[in-house]
Amino acid sequence: MKIEDRLYTLRWKKDEASHLVIVDEEVCRRCEGKPCTSFCPAQVYDWEGDHLNVAYEGCLECGTCRIGCPYRNIAWRYPRGGYGLAYRFG
Ligand code: SF4
Ligand code: SF4
Repeated sequence: MKIEDRLYTLRWKKDEASHLVIVDEEVCRRCEGKPCTSFCPAQVYDWEGDHLNVAYEGCLECGTCRIGCPYRNIAWRYPRGGYGLAYRFG
């Protein structure tokens, strides 16, 4: 089964505020390679010009960025209850 087919079984309820917070944007500017733009399976992180876009709405809540950022620069928590990821079937 392709990843696109698997993602189709998921649904998201968007919260107004992000559950993923960049602690210090200056650290991101100095970060070589910006690995968060590669390791996130949902491509939540995208470097645009001089800042990091965080498309938290599509987060799969896998927790990878909690340990994957070499500078521990992402404050990670689950979305508030009732928001975030839900499974379409069962
Ligand atoms: S890996 Fe961490 S420090 Fe580097 S750009 Fe991403 S969030 Fe910023
Ligand atoms: S928890 Fe997983 S899916 Fe969500 S932003 Fe972090 S790496 Fe991406």
